[in-house]
Amino acid sequence: MFDINKILRPNIKNLTPYSSARDEFKGEASVYLDANENAYGSPLGTNYNRYPDPLQYAVKKRLSEIKGVPPRNIFLGNGSDEAIDILYRSFCNPGVDNVIIVPPTYGMYEVSANINDVALRRVPLTEDYQLDVDAIAGNIDEHTKIIWICSPNNPTGNSMERADVETLLANFSGLVVVDEAYINFSRQKSFIQELTEYSNLVVMQTLSKAWGLAGLRVGMAFASEEIIEVMNKVKPPYNMNEASQALALEALQNVTQVNDWIKETLTERDKLVLQLAKFNFVLDIYPSDANFILVKTTDANGIYNYLVQNGIIVRNRTKVELCEGALRITVGTPDENVKLIETLSKYE
Ligand SMILES: *Cc1c(COP(=O)(O)O)cnc(C)c1O
Repeated sequence: MFDINKILRPNIKNLTPYSSARDEFKGEASVYLDANENAYGSPLGTNYNRYPDPLQYAVKKRLSEIKGVPPRNIFLGNGSDEAIDILYRSFCNPGVDNVIIVPPTYGMYEVSANINDVALRRVPLTEDYQLDVDAIAGNIDEHTKIIWICSPNNPTGNSMERADVETLLANFSGLVVVDEAYINFSRQKSFIQELTEYSNLVVMQTLSKAWGLAGLRVGMAFASEEIIEVMNKVKPPYNMNEASQALALEALQNVTQVNDWIKETLTERDKLVLQLAKFNFVLDIYPSDANFILVKTTDANGIYNYLVQNGIIVRNRTKVELCEGALRITVGTPDENVKLIETLSKYE
């Protein structure tokens, strides 16, 4: 049922991509005089005078070992935010097409739609923050290109019911994007395993959260080879810089450290939940599959400002629909969490 040629923008289908020096000569040579680089080096301890690998093969090869997905099914971007933008630019005709978002959810799906002049259809999550599959189905028309799903969801923290996501994958002839930025903290298994099952699935992950590399900007998308080929054609030629590629590759050798942090974060999260539940200004704590907790309070603005005065910054989500009174609190180090709880215990 899914046919990429039916949803691709015509200008992208016909696009001849930029061909870089690194695309035109791929072998090893002793003298490179093809890219107008500075042949002497860089005024730094490490040389960055050469353009980076446009397709980031070394990083993809390592990711492929960790994720069990062939490199040809991996797209790397300057953060997942770049992957989001590239999906809009590849598949959504400005002023014509629409996408579905399911608020409360990650804000970039909406901002990126607005930047690309793509109409948004909002289908709120149910009261227990699950997908309203019938309402989503009712909002699909022939111009609907993408359904954005975040699981575990930001800012609510819960995972979406797997069967609901599969219903959408099986019945929608556009793309279903499952953003798994927080998957390392989740009890649910990744949708990466379903890539061979559903040709319209795009799974997004990132090195910004559990991997501790937000400052390097490394986002991943996993999808069929034909979708990845389109994304590679549309992306800027050198979208991931050499320092980020080299450091990401180095970090990806250190799986054990990351797994230890994940375990500790989950322990700390469970402790925080128990401690927060004791405060009389806490009305509800939503079950979290992520490294943050959404906490419904009697006075989100008051508590937020009080914490700011004490040098602690959380995210005030009270203005977000279905999140009235809610603060989103990231799990910190044990010391930071103690400081948070001590400070909150003095809140009147
Ligand atoms: C943090 C986050 C991202 C990560 O974006 P990057 O650009 O890779 O840093 C993506 N999606 C969601 C839902 C997030 O919360």
